[in-house]
Amino acid sequence: MTRLGIDVGGTRTKWVALEGDAVVGSGTVPTPPSPDETVELAARLASELAPDAESIGIGLPGHVDRATGTALFVPNPPGDWGGYPLGARLGALAGLPVSVVNDARAFALAELELGAARGLADVLFAVLGTGVGGAVALGGAVLVGPRDNLGEIGHVTVAPWGQACCCGNRGCVETFAAGPGIVRGFSSGATAKVPAQKVPAQQLTAEEVAEAARAGDGRAAKVFERAGWALGVALGDAASVFGVGSVVVGGGVSGALDLMRSALDAQLARRRPLIGDIAVLPAVLGPLAGAIGAALYGRRSG
Ligand SMILES: [Zn+2]
Repeated sequence: MTRLGIDVGGTRTKWVALEGDAVVGSGTVPTPPSPDETVELAARLASELAPDAESIGIGLPGHVDRATGTALFVPNPPGDWGGYPLGARLGALAGLPVSVVNDARAFALAELELGAARGLADVLFAVLGTGVGGAVALGGAVLVGPRDNLGEIGHVTVAPWGQACCCGNRGCVETFAAGPGIVRGFSSGATAKVPAQKVPAQQLTAEEVAEAARAGDGRAAKVFERAGWALGVALGDAASVFGVGSVVVGGGVSGALDLMRSALDAQLARRRPLIGDIAVLPAVLGPLAGAIGAALYGRRSG
């Protein structure tokens, strides 16, 4: 039997069909402009691409009420998601059991069961993308919290007077280590290493800033060094709270983990007397990890 997993992103929505632990189908489509149209898309994916699906797991980039399948705080995808009864609407339309989960917790479950953290018990997860998601696994289980909101590493404060964050705080890790923060950090001055038509830097992507860093652009390198510093400060604090021994870093921006690594490692090393040696592991499941994790959650409840 097949489990469908769907990962709703700010601009793109990914899906996988999972048979046992194997991905037997996958794809990416634009995120629809509203929650209702997202429900229609998910039901269509189930009927057309996974007609023998026994359950649907759907991950959202925000906080959800798992018990009722209701979206709570979901700021990025288009439309008004606050209070939207996603699980009930999709379940009624698709005629299948539906699990609604946070996307970072889904990522963590996938990497814990099938990826970089397989066999580990106590792990922190950080997902670097449009924002910075996070999760905590202790004793081999991903912790959830009352609003599926436990483990938000991205909103640990590393600079109390820093840039305003979408969460209402200032100087969160996310303002340094997510794609927009990296582009903004670089935007105070593009250099000859970046094509002129790409200036102003708001039009750049984090990947292009990473390319510039690899080509020897000192300003770009500094932006990633700062991202690694912020991530290391927050992960060091989180490790001291949770007593974990490993960290898994994934998400689209983690392709530049090598550029952040020495600053990140330096912050963890500074905390070694308290937290011990922390293994920093790159995620291995790639862009589908969130959808795979959503499917795994569907299996659990289905
Ligand atoms: Zn924040």
